[in-house]
Amino acid sequence: MDGTRVSDYPETIIYVDGPGVSCMGEAMDHPKVYYAVPEEGYVKCNYCDIKFMRKKEDDDGNRSNS
Ligand SMILES: [Zn+2]
Repeated sequence: MDGTRVSDYPETIIYVDGPGVSCMGEAMDHPKVYYAVPEEGYVKCNYCDIKFMRKKEDDDGNRSNS
């Protein structure tokens, strides 16, 4: 299926566990910028189109150790 898809490059999604994130690009190729990550959905960097999403904090890693 090699049609004419314009946006064919894979999108980069970075998962964060806080309400804010800073981005300098995958290769640090743009100035450092800060974004507020919404709890639902994502924020996309205006420079490098990386998407930042919240980690899902369901009771997934809730293992009691002893
Ligand atoms: Zn960026």
